[in-house]
Amino acid sequence: MEKRKLVIIGSGPAGYTAAIYAARANLYPLIYEGFFSGPAGGQLMTTTEVENYPGFPGGITGPELMDAFRKQAERFGTTILAEDVASVDLKNYPFLIKGHPTTVQAEAVIIATGANARRLNVPGAGDGEFWQKGVTACAVCDGAAPIFRDKELYVIGGGDSAVEEAIFLTKYGCKVYIVHRRNELRASKIMAERALRHPKIEVIWNHALVKVEGDTVVKSVTLQNINTKEEMRRETGGVFFAIGHDPNTSFLKDQLELHDNRYIKVIPGTTMTSVEGVFAAGDVQDHIYRQAVTAAGTGCMAALDAEKWLSHKEQHQ
Ligand code: NAP
Repeated sequence: MEKRKLVIIGSGPAGYTAAIYAARANLYPLIYEGFFSGPAGGQLMTTTEVENYPGFPGGITGPELMDAFRKQAERFGTTILAEDVASVDLKNYPFLIKGHPTTVQAEAVIIATGANARRLNVPGAGDGEFWQKGVTACAVCDGAAPIFRDKELYVIGGGDSAVEEAIFLTKYGCKVYIVHRRNELRASKIMAERALRHPKIEVIWNHALVKVEGDTVVKSVTLQNINTKEEMRRETGGVFFAIGHDPNTSFLKDQLELHDNRYIKVIPGTTMTSVEGVFAAGDVQDHIYRQAVTAAGTGCMAALDAEKWLSHKEQHQ
């Protein structure tokens, strides 16, 4: 069985950045970049223009940015496997990473499997329908697109993300509706008040999105009153899901300490997890910021933490 000093699981900005730093430190990393679990490169592969990643004043598409990250990781000698990891054994040492079909022993592991924005499974919102044609799960990534300009926009959800996205979208849309399934926002008080006071934001309480329609792009939404079941159809230029994210931690099954929301616990200010020699970077351990640049930053931290941990271990062997 192949043995590696460092195995990185996951290939978004966090995984590739960890690989760049680790490869340059001669740790000869191997990265499982995923296959069936989602596109290699992570969430950025499903976005269009990225305008907030520093260094690209004219913007860059998500796939182009990830392709550049990947090439940079390869340039310094990262081994890239287009495979998913099915399970890991972090209870025995060296650690065991079981992929489809490659199994590898690792002295240190960086987990950077990210999180996926939840999507509502309603008619019209799926792949091949209006997903990415006016329906998105990231206002910050997609909100500035011309199709949303001066349109009435709908944000679905009632948490901090929904409020934050709605406020962000007021820069582009003529009016932003927050559609919430209850009669009270989950968002923090300060954020909720900001939304409720905003002249361009209106909350539609006790409603659920039931249908999205359009031609080449989204043109309308149908909302249903949760209590009366009455439906209303509204014209719109965009639908933004802000109903939370799910971290990709199901393959870890009791191997590491997780928060109640299933994000990986790290020692604050580091990328160290509850298992020595296992580090976590990017959205899989961050449910607050969730930006490409913060993911890349923690990917760098994880590689430095892993390098330090490995050299300390070698010195004391
Ligand atoms: P969240 O707090 O879990 O809120 C998700 C919202 O979506 C809830 O209002 C929930 O409704 C609604 N929802 C969930 N499933 C739904 C469904 N199937 N249909 C309709 N609505 C649905 O998620 P989040 O807003 O992404 O926030 C996640 C974490 O990040 C939180 O801890 C938050 O404080 C933090 N965050 C902080 C900031 C900030 O401080 N600036 C910004 C963003 C996020 P219910 O309320 O009925 O459950």
